[in-house]
Amino acid sequence: MTKLFISDLHLQAARPDITERFFRFLQTEAAEAEALYILGDLFEAWIGDDDPDEHNREVQAAMRRLTDAGVAGYFMRGNRDFLIGDAFAERTGFTLLDDPVVRDFYGTPVLLSHGDAYCTDDVEYQAFRRQSRDPAWQQQVLSMSVEQRRALAGQAREESRAAMVDKAEDIMDVNADAVAAALREAGVTTLVHGHTHRPAVHELDLDGTPATRIVLGDWYEQGTVLHWTPEGPDYRWKVL
Ligand code: MN
Repeated sequence: MTKLFISDLHLQAARPDITERFFRFLQTEAAEAEALYILGDLFEAWIGDDDPDEHNREVQAAMRRLTDAGVAGYFMRGNRDFLIGDAFAERTGFTLLDDPVVRDFYGTPVLLSHGDAYCTDDVEYQAFRRQSRDPAWQQQVLSMSVEQRRALAGQAREESRAAMVDKAEDIMDVNADAVAAALREAGVTTLVHGHTHRPAVHELDLDGTPATRIVLGDWYEQGTVLHWTPEGPDYRWKVL
């Protein structure tokens, strides 16, 4: 009985080695698991479920094989693949999760999030986040042609790369108060998130109660998988 958690694979056709690693993971570790949770940014970019992109279709087919084999799949959108929708869920057999959401793992309630919502020091990014999660804005984008959306996504990635050069390291990490507020609001003491690409286990003090923040790593440098069994979380960080 094991539940697995991954995030930030940033799969794209330009990095077939990472995609191959994901496929191997689905056929081995994940196939043995009870459930797989993907906490966002599985894809480097997602311009809509109607995108015929061959690489992304192959990834969805591989995910389908996992759920067809009886492994429960859960998917939370990240800041790169926030346009993932119901057609993706139907195609892959994965259940879409809201961000954030509380799930119970063998008696422990755990707050799950992609994590970008807690990076509140990056004011510019939070403004984009609000816009990109607005249903009206999303509808407007999805009404464009696939080619137009592809161009828009490429431009957004360029702008994001350029903006990151000027930002201090700590601005792109989570804000401790935002994390504490989220735990308080959810009424739990354990948080699992990705996004920052800083895999670690942080022990916190939440109003006098011990709390834990588990950060998943990306698959470009760290290749981390969190295993959760009835005994609790087990950190098997792997280095690619
Ligand atoms: Mn992210």
